[in-house]
Amino acid sequence: MATIVEASSPPSPQRKSIASLSIVWRMAKRYPGRIFYAGCALLAAAAATSSIPVGIKYVVENSFGQCEQQAAGCGDIDFMFLMLFGIVIILGVSTALRFYFVSWLGERVVADIRIGVLDNLLRLSPSYFEENRPAEIASRVTADTAVIEQIVGTTASVALRNTLTGIAGVVVLTWLAPGLTLKLLIGIPIIVFPITFLGRRLQELSRTSQDRVASIGTVVDEVLGAMKIVQAFGQQKRESERFGEAAEQTFSTAKRRIFVRAGMTSIVIFLLFGGITLLLWGATWDVKNNHMSGGAMIAYVISAVLVVGSFGSLTEVWGDVLRGAGAAGRLSELIAEQPGIAAPLKPTPLPEPAQGGIVFDSVTFRYPTRQETSALNAFCLSVEPGETVAVVGPSGAGKSTLFQLLQRFYDPESGQILIDGVPLPDADPITVRQRMAMVPQETVIFAASARDNLRYGRWDSDDSALWAAAEAANAATFLRELPDGLDTYMGEGGARLSGGQRQRIAIARAVLRDSPILLLDEATSALDAESERLVQDALDRLMHNRTTIVIAHRLATIRNADRIIVMDGGKIVEQGNHAELSKNKGLYARLAKLQFSGEHS
Ligand code: ATP
Repeated sequence: MATIVEASSPPSPQRKSIASLSIVWRMAKRYPGRIFYAGCALLAAAAATSSIPVGIKYVVENSFGQCEQQAAGCGDIDFMFLMLFGIVIILGVSTALRFYFVSWLGERVVADIRIGVLDNLLRLSPSYFEENRPAEIASRVTADTAVIEQIVGTTASVALRNTLTGIAGVVVLTWLAPGLTLKLLIGIPIIVFPITFLGRRLQELSRTSQDRVASIGTVVDEVLGAMKIVQAFGQQKRESERFGEAAEQTFSTAKRRIFVRAGMTSIVIFLLFGGITLLLWGATWDVKNNHMSGGAMIAYVISAVLVVGSFGSLTEVWGDVLRGAGAAGRLSELIAEQPGIAAPLKPTPLPEPAQGGIVFDSVTFRYPTRQETSALNAFCLSVEPGETVAVVGPSGAGKSTLFQLLQRFYDPESGQILIDGVPLPDADPITVRQRMAMVPQETVIFAASARDNLRYGRWDSDDSALWAAAEAANAATFLRELPDGLDTYMGEGGARLSGGQRQRIAIARAVLRDSPILLLDEATSALDAESERLVQDALDRLMHNRTTIVIAHRLATIRNADRIIVMDGGKIVEQGNHAELSKNKGLYARLAKLQFSGEHS
């Protein structure tokens, strides 16, 4: 998708950021019907608002005998007030409709942007989330979209309403007294600009004030969270002083704010009421000189106040528009971001039936965020279909990196990886991943039902398939004991499951996936003997007849492997079976001694 800020000449930052708002229009124009209704409601509300002063003019003129006695409706007070009521009803209904349709559009656009952003994020490779902090992206999806919601739902509506009301008001004013209106139009900027300027200054001060309050909050959080340490070290006095300083700083910022606010209030009152007084002055002379009726004068003053208010609030809208443009720009970037790893135009199909052969051919790889060291260094490994290879090595040796590259979350810097003879970049990453099931060290349990958590392995599985997988994974017994069976809610992060149970859920997912290649990252955290046996049994069943690469931490797994490879510094340093490697007195023997000293061999 093309970015929306393309332009032939480099635009100024402000113009560029305003252009970002086009994403909002792109999303909104999918709903032309709603835009039309919102527009109609806006027009009706503006027309009704500016008709009210005109209505008042007629009411006053007709009720106090200033109209021509022959004119229709003259003196008919009830009729006049009924007309005025009619306008008020139109105003009420059209305002409600405007609010409904415009807010609807705002919420809809925000939902569409959120969905668009998340859909695109799901396509991006994991390296993107290493270079861009997920917490920041999440805040963009929530906070930035809330700003857009404000822009579409409120700001745009206020801006349009005020523009229309202002223009309609000027038409009414010109009709009532053209000469006076000219003077008023010249006077509006003199009133509006100083008020806007002071408003901005006040806004800046309030922001600093809020920042200071936030920093008080940080001090309080820190102190309360570390109360035992504070008291144990007897630092109460120092903490009290630190808090006192922060509170005093907040007070002095607040003092400046209230000083400006007090001054500003008097200037605003002077400008506004002074302006109205001047207007009344001019209008009174017009009435006195019979250029205007008393009713028209009242209508004129009310309209003028409406016009000044409308144009005045437009200046506030500008700040919101800039804020919204910033948010829209950031969201457009997220929607336009292209995945670093994508399927080639004509992907090579993987051979059928799947064999499960894996080859690492002199693979060198560095993580994008750690360019200084290579996680894999000319790494070579060939795994036969159906073979079980256990990978051992010290922390940071590059064991997990093998899995990352096999699933094509990253591409190597040099060398290549082949699955059943097909180089990974030639195949579609989705079909490559379909050939693998991963049992990670830390199982992710989603805040959903047990059923949904299981069928993450294969979404279309029915309950009988789920139970069969659960049996195979030794998970059926505890799943049956859950209060609502498969409907039981698993809680945030699977808080209701023990470590061994989580692992067995992960194994059940892999059973459901039923793929020829199994990537197993054994959990390092110790399980009790019974859980350990259940997990190991389930794994043995799962590994049967599949190509398995297992990052091994358990002696039982290592012993059953066809081959053990020992990694260090991104390379294979030793390989063989347990007995051979133990005899070598090399890295394996040392690691085995350390890791398995507690286990019976
Ligand atoms: P462990 O047993 O502790 O999990 P490992 O053998 O699996 O270690 P890897 O996770 O493959 O080691 O890490 C190999 C090297 O790559 C290490 O130096 C590690 O710091 C680095 N590394 C791993 N993951 C990343 C990442 N996402 N970004 C940057 N560097 C990484």
